[in-house]
Order: sequence, then C-alpha cells, then structure tokens
Amino acid sequence: MRANRTLFKRFNSRYVKRGAYECWEWIRPSSRGYGELNNKPGLVVRAHVVAWRLKKGEWPKPGECVCHTCNNKKCVNPNHLYLATTGENIKDAWRDGLCKIPAPQVGSKHWKALLTEDQARRILRQKGIKTSRELGKEYGVSAACVKKIFQGKNWRHLHEGW
Ligand SMILES: [Zn+2]
Repeated sequence: MRANRTLFKRFNSRYVKRGAYECWEWIRPSSRGYGELNNKPGLVVRAHVVAWRLKKGEWPKPGECVCHTCNNKKCVNPNHLYLATTGENIKDAWRDGLCKIPAPQVGSKHWKALLTEDQARRILRQKGIKTSRELGKEYGVSAACVKKIFQGKNWRHLHEGW
C-alpha cells in the first residue's frame, strides 16, 4: 500500500492537468510515447494505467488493458481511458501501430515475422524472470509484442501443453 502511495504521488507531479475533456499530457513520455513510472524495482508501470487505478480503485485484471479513446499515448486524463480485453486491445494496437519494431530493423511489417518460433518460446520461458521491456530490447520487438506472447495472444500454440 505504501508503495502505491509514493507511486501516486510521483504520478500526480508529472502531468499537466487541463480541462475535463482535454488531454492531460505526461511531461516527459518515454521513447515509446507513454508516460512511464518505475514501480517495483525493474518494473515499469504506464502512467495512464496508474490514472485508471486512481480513478477506479483497482488495477486492470490480467487480460485487461487500459486504452485511450483519444489515441494520445501520453494522455492520463481518466475521462479518455477505457478498459478493453486484450483481444480488443490487439486490434487497437494494430490500428495504432503499437506493434511496430524500431526503425533500423524494419524488414517485415508483420510482427509474427519478427520472431522465430524458437525465439518466441525462449521469451515465454522468461516470463516472470525478465520484464517485457527487457525482453523486447533483447529481441528487438516492442514490449507490447512480448506481453502478447506472455498472454498467449501471439504464438498461442506455444501455451498449449506448456
Ligand atoms: Zn486524452
């Protein structure tokens, strides 16, 4: 609980609050365009997810994602946030281009082509050991892509009989 309190305090000092219908933008978003906060050591939480937690009093459950109605990744206005299941969110991620790989490695636009099955398997084995961010860096894909592997949305067959 104490950890949450300092998290909320840090959260509140790092965005610009505007009118209820405007975007409340994070002051220094990460290279991925999101507001991010360090939570527990090695774990990063996205600022808009913290905004959701503050408004609703609970964190999204596994399989749920906090999405933006405004498509402004650095926005933390809770009025611009909604909860989606990851299935819906994947469609959104596609639409928003969240699953693109960093520019130097562009070769195929399709995320499935970015990783071999073997790599995906290795990523899945590191679930709970490394963060999706670390693994994304290691394999040259976005953390969102790694998360989808973790959730069984990509490479679903790897989860069967796992
Ligand atoms: Zn917004």
